[in-house]
Amino acid sequence: MDVAVVGGGVTGCACAHLLAQAGLRVRLHEARQIAGGASGRNGGFALRGGAPAYDAAREQLGAERAATLWRLTERYLERLAELAGDAFRRTGSLRLAADSSERDELEAEYDALSEDGFAAELRDELPAPLAGRFAGAMFQPGDGSLQPARWVRRLAERAAEAGAELREHERLDSLDELDADQVVVATDGYTAGLLPELDAAVTPTRGQVIATEPVERRLFSCPHYARHGYEYWQQAPDGRVVAGGFRDRAMDEEQTAEEETTPLIQGHLERFVAGLLGEQPAVAYRWSGIFGTTEDRLPLVGRMPEHENVWVSVGYSGHGNVMGLACGELVARAILGDARPELELFEPARLVSA
Ligand SMILES: Cc1cc2nc3c(=O)[nH]c(=O)nc-3n(C[C@H](O)[C@H](O)[C@H](O)COP(=O)(O)OP(=O)(O)OC[C@H]3O[C@@H](n4cnc5c(N)ncnc54)[C@H](O)[C@@H]3O)c2cc1C
Repeated sequence: MDVAVVGGGVTGCACAHLLAQAGLRVRLHEARQIAGGASGRNGGFALRGGAPAYDAAREQLGAERAATLWRLTERYLERLAELAGDAFRRTGSLRLAADSSERDELEAEYDALSEDGFAAELRDELPAPLAGRFAGAMFQPGDGSLQPARWVRRLAERAAEAGAELREHERLDSLDELDADQVVVATDGYTAGLLPELDAAVTPTRGQVIATEPVERRLFSCPHYARHGYEYWQQAPDGRVVAGGFRDRAMDEEQTAEEETTPLIQGHLERFVAGLLGEQPAVAYRWSGIFGTTEDRLPLVGRMPEHENVWVSVGYSGHGNVMGLACGELVARAILGDARPELELFEPARLVSA
């Protein structure tokens, strides 16, 4: 086998797809089923950029590197639109300010984006039921909404059609079990036990979600988020309101790999959605998922230090829908001998010591 990929989420499937298309023999191992991890459990926001806001990313990375990262994700939103079919809708997204200090932060992000030529619009007049609840908003027109599990299963189908072998229900206990020239670890928050150095650099973090029964009124035409992403919601095409967040109400407890829901966070989510809708909606589904967070909230993507044939792409810090596609393909290209300059942004050695 040329390449073994561990993990059947967006990252692993994107990587396997490109490698198989290039004619390599690829086998993907997934402990559960395709999209069984965060890729099939997330809020479905397909956003430009990384986990930090653009102005913060400029401070963290420098203006040029931040712009490179933002441009990469803009290109990958296009790629997503090309590959995902009706699992992706280009709706734009709305970042909302919960109070006047978040409004200042939102304006700082808007100013930074505008200065560097990235499209964004400030919105002072908010429609019901946002008016009065939020202190302003920024619309980002290139963003969109995903049906995440449908999208990743579709990507896996493309990988299989290109010749990749997909093995579901096959958990790997050790990389030594693999007989392949190169190995790609694409397990994000479920990274545990395969590479101890990686476990030390990626913190499993739980996200919880509810989905209501369909609501007849069309209230939200795109993904919405507020309080620095600790509240996020959208209305699916069938009318259900899908809402997640409130991890900040139990930060320590939610730093876990236990995939379960808790009454505390679920209660916050229900009260929040009831406030938005002006009535207590019936909750049809509840779930949780685990994502991987790194110290600087950027993923680790590239060759693993001191492991000549092992590549990783993990740690998107809750923003892996577009970044996972981008980074899965960046790793595939590097394996094919075409290492792109963007990889430098995510060099694993910055956080992983050999
Ligand atoms: C509740 C929630 C909401 C989120 N909302 C958003 C959002 O709106 N927008 C956004 O961009 N991001 C969001 N994220 C983050 C996003 O879902 C992830 O960053 C992204 O899905 C990561 O994809 P992945 O393929 O790298 O990992 P995953 O999709 O987690 O896939 C990793 C896979 O590896 C498998 N695996 C692990 N260990 C092994 C092993 N030893 N052997 C075999 N298989 C193994 C797991 O079963 C899993 O399927 C959210 C995450 C959660 C949990």
